[in-house]
Amino acid sequence: FITEMAFELPDLKYDYNALEPYIDGRTMEIHHSKHHGGYTSKLNDAVSGTDLEGLDIEAILKNVSTQSAGVRNNGGGYFNHNLFWEVMSPNGGGTPDGDLLDAINSAFGSFDAFKEKFSTAAATRFGSGWAWLVKTDSGLVVSSTPNQDNPLMDVADVKGTPVLGLDVWEHAYYLNYQNRRPEYIEAFWNIINWKEVSNRFGS
Ligand code: MN
Repeated sequence: FITEMAFELPDLKYDYNALEPYIDGRTMEIHHSKHHGGYTSKLNDAVSGTDLEGLDIEAILKNVSTQSAGVRNNGGGYFNHNLFWEVMSPNGGGTPDGDLLDAINSAFGSFDAFKEKFSTAAATRFGSGWAWLVKTDSGLVVSSTPNQDNPLMDVADVKGTPVLGLDVWEHAYYLNYQNRRPEYIEAFWNIINWKEVSNRFGS
């Protein structure tokens, strides 16, 4: 019989080297094909034959506290990287507009204040993890999570819908930036796909 794999590694919508000079092509290739690919196949292994098989990733993450470390780590890794590739673009950068900008101004006072807060969250996340802009019931919030956790998880300190995420694992930047995480964070602002972030924010 044929077993249909639940989760698939998505293709990028741009070439591996399209985000240069901000993120180099070799890093993107390894990050997507090896790291994201690994999370995807291990997630499929972890849910195969369990009652999670056939659930969408959001449903799995919502109750992840009841699941194994394999489901938590690989499910988070699968979802987080799907988001990460989408919120970057070779035509990115600049600033958001419309409802998203209004919500940022309302929550943080200004775009620059938001940028500072997000960058600090990314820079100060100890070890491996992510920085997030999260849509919560009480407006936009900046947070960070360890490992492959994310705001969809019931274990997260700040729970809500992640609309922007930055991977600060060393595998995301080490070839080009070595230990200089703040330079990688600053470069990220040049490639943020605000149109996609706005879509995820909704209104
Ligand atoms: Mn990563």
